[in-house]
Amino acid sequence: MTETQGVNAMECKLVPSICSYCGTGCGVLFEVIDGKLQGTMPMKSHPVNEGKLCIKGWHLHEHINSFMRLKSPLIKNNGRFEKATWDEAIQTTAQRLSSVVERHGPDSVGVLVSAKITNEENYLAQKFARACIGTNNVDHCARL
Ligand code: SF4
Repeated sequence: MTETQGVNAMECKLVPSICSYCGTGCGVLFEVIDGKLQGTMPMKSHPVNEGKLCIKGWHLHEHINSFMRLKSPLIKNNGRFEKATWDEAIQTTAQRLSSVVERHGPDSVGVLVSAKITNEENYLAQKFARACIGTNNVDHCARL
């Protein structure tokens, strides 16, 4: 019997990514141990942060495994949130949004986008506001 027989070696990986907490875009390395995200480190070679992170960036991995993380949509019925499928949530949102626009007009709706989503997603959100809802009421969390 060799020394390593019967012992499972730990698989460790550093996965490069970008912090999604704000629009600065610091480079990070996610520590993945045995397939589970365990930590975040600053990327020294990244031109934006050059090995530094703010306190939010250091804790970037924590929400992934948080027990508080929402993993399915919730629909509020009679004052209580109930789990729903994505199809149900999208259909309910579309119906309720259409009803508001019908009753109060397109400018009764505002769309708030976020620095935590990609430029492409922000583009789609403003396009949805202007082309689907018919309003120019679009704003961004950086201005709030
Ligand atoms: S580490 Fe801090 S400054 Fe850098 S992108 Fe994340 S939240 Fe923004």
